[in-house]
Amino acid sequence: MKGEEMNDEKRLIIVAYRIPFKVTFQESGERTLQQNSGGLVSAILSLAEKGEAISDKQKIHWFGYSTPDILQEGETKVENENFIVHPVLLDDELNEAYYEGFCNSTIWPISHYYPYLTSFDEDHYEAYVKANKIFADKINAFIRPGDIVWIQDYQLMLLPAMIRAEHPEASIGYFHHIPFATFEIFRLLPKQWQSDLLKGLIGADLIGFHTNDYSQYFLRSVQRILGYDTTVRDISIGNRIVRVDTFPISIDYNKFQSLYDNPQVMEKRKEFLKDLGREKNIFSVDRLDYSKGLIHRLNGFEYFLDQHPEWHSRVVFTMIVVPSRETILKYAEMKHELEEAVGRINGKYGTLGWRPVVYLYRSLSFDELGALYTLADVALITPIRDGMNLVAKEFVATRTDKKGVLILSEMAGASLELTGAILINPTDRKKLSDAIVQALTMDEQEQAQRMQLMQDRVKVYDIFKWTEDYMDQLDIIKTKQLKFEEKIINQHVLANFKQIFDESSRRLFLLDYDGTLSPIVADPSSSKPSVGIVELLKKISSDFNVNVAIISGRDKEFLNYIFDASTILSAEHGAFLRIPGQDWELQYQYDDQWKHMVLPIFQKYTDRCAGSFIENKSTSLAWHYRNTETEYAHIRSREFIEELENKIGAKSNLTIIDGDKVVEMKPSDADKGIAARKICDLYQPDFILSIGDDRTDEDMFKALPDNALTIKVGVKNSYAKFTIKTQEEVNTILQTFL
Ligand code: UDP
Repeated sequence: MKGEEMNDEKRLIIVAYRIPFKVTFQESGERTLQQNSGGLVSAILSLAEKGEAISDKQKIHWFGYSTPDILQEGETKVENENFIVHPVLLDDELNEAYYEGFCNSTIWPISHYYPYLTSFDEDHYEAYVKANKIFADKINAFIRPGDIVWIQDYQLMLLPAMIRAEHPEASIGYFHHIPFATFEIFRLLPKQWQSDLLKGLIGADLIGFHTNDYSQYFLRSVQRILGYDTTVRDISIGNRIVRVDTFPISIDYNKFQSLYDNPQVMEKRKEFLKDLGREKNIFSVDRLDYSKGLIHRLNGFEYFLDQHPEWHSRVVFTMIVVPSRETILKYAEMKHELEEAVGRINGKYGTLGWRPVVYLYRSLSFDELGALYTLADVALITPIRDGMNLVAKEFVATRTDKKGVLILSEMAGASLELTGAILINPTDRKKLSDAIVQALTMDEQEQAQRMQLMQDRVKVYDIFKWTEDYMDQLDIIKTKQLKFEEKIINQHVLANFKQIFDESSRRLFLLDYDGTLSPIVADPSSSKPSVGIVELLKKISSDFNVNVAIISGRDKEFLNYIFDASTILSAEHGAFLRIPGQDWELQYQYDDQWKHMVLPIFQKYTDRCAGSFIENKSTSLAWHYRNTETEYAHIRSREFIEELENKIGAKSNLTIIDGDKVVEMKPSDADKGIAARKICDLYQPDFILSIGDDRTDEDMFKALPDNALTIKVGVKNSYAKFTIKTQEEVNTILQTFL
């Protein structure tokens, strides 16, 4: 880490677009800071109280956007008893292009599946990069070893990598509070933006999403666009593992539970019930947004009124729309559209004494919200797309009376947890109308059962649990990374082995070729050894009295071509051996019959998988699929292996090697381990160095005596004693022994 001094205290640094204070100024000019009471802010505070992720008595550092007026003369930060806020100042023009522009007119609509509302403005993108960089510069100058940085949401997708670049060892978390769209939608963004955004995110150690679907969609984009290997929750980026996991955000359950009996809420509830004055109350609360399905909801309600005249005058739908992003044209248009629809419905069905839809365009106080949640017979929460939807969880938590029915869109992240709701597709107005009837006529026993089921879930995984879970996982992935790091060879170890090397007289180097002496390339026939490495090996062998052996899966001709006559060569995974001064020798009795049996299967999969090809070696067959579409080829390769296994049967003397983008089949009589042992028997070395990168090199590592210096290229699980991060470092390792 650069910059600041070492310090034992763990600090928690939260980075979010918004700061956790509301700042107001009195007439006297005096500044007051009102801390937000939102769930995330309280949950983060509770981490500090429990001493998790942060040392005792430390305040939480929070970096967020602000206008300069927050700071008084000479200040660079603002603090209260809990938080130290470091305002990130962006001028108005930049902030508009960044926040209203790229964040809310590009990332927001594309992530919510509205490509036709997505703006593709290069200036906005530039502003996004610039704003992220301003955040990064400020944070990078502040971070010191041991800090945990937790970045929140889509306004800061480039930030993880910008911090990682300056602080490679830092513990960085990122949480995405909105949906992540499928690859087919995400790829509509210009290529550069796609890859920048993804590369930005994978700078984090842990990337969190609300649902497993969002996690999987993200992983798929990483694999398809960046070409990294992924598992169901990890991304391997050379030497680093990044974890992607699911954490459904929640609410402060107890706070909402206490609302039902809160005197102010009770008072408001009485007042509202009197004013609304009908048998049944339906309500909804959302920010103004196209993703919330407001128009579809009104259409559904209109259809319900149309189909069910028996409910006229008996039910009121209170629709609260909280103002949001009004400066963006689409939002202003939508507001207009909504008002028209409400007018149409009330005009069509209302009477002098009954307005079917009570529409408010404003925000509510907490007491008003509590009153609305607790008076409702039905909550109608029907977004077209919603990362989570907290209103649904809040409604459930307030109902200590166990009454009320939740109608919830299956497109809300919350639908995966709130299984006691009536789940509907919000575009299906008939189903929406049926759901309203079902909810209005549901008996109290069923209401209570459904409510209990949902409350149990929200209670066990509340916002505090969410934060703890996230921090635990961040700790776990960091520990895992450190465990791998511990195996990385260091100068001290190398110096020790160099000393043993100097004192020994029969030195042997056993080296793999692809991925060890040469970088992996898409077309194996065009592979070349790293610059200077063959000369280096020659020098080592002639001037330093080392026997150099190349133990490769390649065929004899290829190895002959690359290496000179003084090198010990083992080809085709140990099938052939050439001792300097002698001819190539087959290491076992080989019979070619098996190839006829399996070649048609090899051919079938080559035909089915465009870009893949067969390599027919003397003693083995390899099917290469590096040049094909990764995901598809992976599925085909699993099928291929299964079909091969079925064909040859369990007792067969054939081995299938499931390599890196290659499946190889060969007799089990030879492998790199057997070859390594044979070479050791011939040369009786008192010093052995062995380097390899592939699964087949594990046979070699396993076969060598305990005192051998075995090194795996790439930070992965291995039998080798040590690892190096990249293939380029092989050269440095070899140089050590000069
Ligand atoms: N809310 C609010 N003011 C209001 C009405 C609601 O702050 O006048 C809160 C509500 O309690 C909930 C949040 O706004 O916590 C909305 O969160 P949700 O996940 O439902 O939707 P988002 O607005 O984040 O898309």
